[in-house]
Amino acid sequence: MVNCSAARCTVIDRFVVLGAAGDLATRHLLPALAHLVAERMLPSTLRIVGVGREPLDGPAYRALATTRLAEHAAQIDPADRALLVQRLDYLRADLEEHPDLRSALGSGPVIAYLALPPSVYTSAVHVLRAGGVAPGSRIVVEKPFGEDVESARALSQLLHTVVDERDVFRVDHFLYHQTIQDLLALRFANSLFEPVWNREHIDRVEITWEETVGVTGRAGYYDCTGALRDMVQSHLLQVAALVAMELPAALDERCLRDEKVAVLRRVRALAPAEVASQTARGRYTAGSVQGQARRGYAQESGVDPSRETETYACLGLAVDTARWRGVPFELRTGKAVGQPRRRIKLHFRATPGSALTGRPAALCLDMSPNRVTLELQMSGPSGLPGTAAELLEVSRPRQQMPASARLLRDVLAGDPTLTVRDDEAEQCWRIIDPVLATWRTGSPALQDYAAGSAGPGHPEGWQPSNAP
Ligand code: NDP
Repeated sequence: MVNCSAARCTVIDRFVVLGAAGDLATRHLLPALAHLVAERMLPSTLRIVGVGREPLDGPAYRALATTRLAEHAAQIDPADRALLVQRLDYLRADLEEHPDLRSALGSGPVIAYLALPPSVYTSAVHVLRAGGVAPGSRIVVEKPFGEDVESARALSQLLHTVVDERDVFRVDHFLYHQTIQDLLALRFANSLFEPVWNREHIDRVEITWEETVGVTGRAGYYDCTGALRDMVQSHLLQVAALVAMELPAALDERCLRDEKVAVLRRVRALAPAEVASQTARGRYTAGSVQGQARRGYAQESGVDPSRETETYACLGLAVDTARWRGVPFELRTGKAVGQPRRRIKLHFRATPGSALTGRPAALCLDMSPNRVTLELQMSGPSGLPGTAAELLEVSRPRQQMPASARLLRDVLAGDPTLTVRDDEAEQCWRIIDPVLATWRTGSPALQDYAAGSAGPGHPEGWQPSNAP
């Protein structure tokens, strides 16, 4: 979303990718830059410098980039890919050894993109500070942003010694999913749903992101992170905030994020006894996913089973606002399930007619990246099958600019509306920290679920409540 009033005219000199030979940089960032070249949206004076500890130089990095772009940006005209490649340079540096980055940073404003393991963020920011980034520079930080409230706050404070908060872009790719942006239009721009979007009409809200993939070679990161930190702390709480917030005065960086923070503040942190009864955690065992044999998470290479890292997390939250008091929000995410489910589902309250026609209806918004469906689900009168009325189905053409390119476009324009502000990140950790603390005591127990199943059930006595 480029918000013209928010866009700023600082001329960015260089785009510096820290961790330039890694997976994110070569599989997502380079293709995103190639899209911007193809759309003629990358300023012609912008230099791109990769920094990393791999033993490469300029020509070797350009060769690596050419190969990766052929793999991951094949749809872009080869001439445009070549235009990008010829702008690339590389500096070999280990950011934990206090290297001098002045030659990479130059003297004008830069965008520094931290495509690094989170354990290196602090060193990287210290190195940027020592390198003396010019005023007007921006820093992009990937999730996870910290590992609890304290570390998130400390990292923000460190970043603020280099750039202003407005120039920090904490990335949550979910905010760039078209569906998430459609959600705002669905809620606020039509009179069909706005009047019923509240506790009077809605009984409970489910936000689900379940996928068939396992850890797919990212065990080193995932095993230290788990489903709760990886998915719930960032993505699902962002979605929940967009579902639950009040109408922002404007869809700009300040008003939109103010409303998200306001509602996140009203999400009640769970007490230990509530964590036992209102959360679930699971880990997949060997099974078969869509006909393919899958080994258990504990047998994946790079996993330390004694960590008891969860690959499935579910929690019931209370949103203590006038609009939602009494309506439980259930957030659920898991890997290696049999059928992917990515949806926001609002269950309507029973009406007098429900006694005749069966279960009350639900409104279901599918969050798949290239497809939007909005479905009204109704159950039939006792014993009879229900109906699902598709209200809307839109398939998006695959060649549409990917989310990562739209993010870079906004970073170049200086518009952080669809990124996470420091207070938002802290609020999300405030909600997650007590769950992690109770899970560390073994409560509730980690449940096994077979790969290819629907995931673990709720723990015994599951009763997500939303009492104030
Ligand atoms: P990778 O491990 O593939 O890449 C990280 C890169 O940083 C590697 O090239 C690595 O070099 C380099 N690096 C590590 N330590 C240093 C150091 N001290 N000095 C200089 N370079 C260093 O990780 P990803 O690309 O997968 O992830 C990067 C970030 O992006 C993480 O925060 C991750 O959570 C986030 N992310 C990644 C996604 C993805 O799809 N990959 C999706 C969403 C977020 P070396 O190879 O030598 O270790």
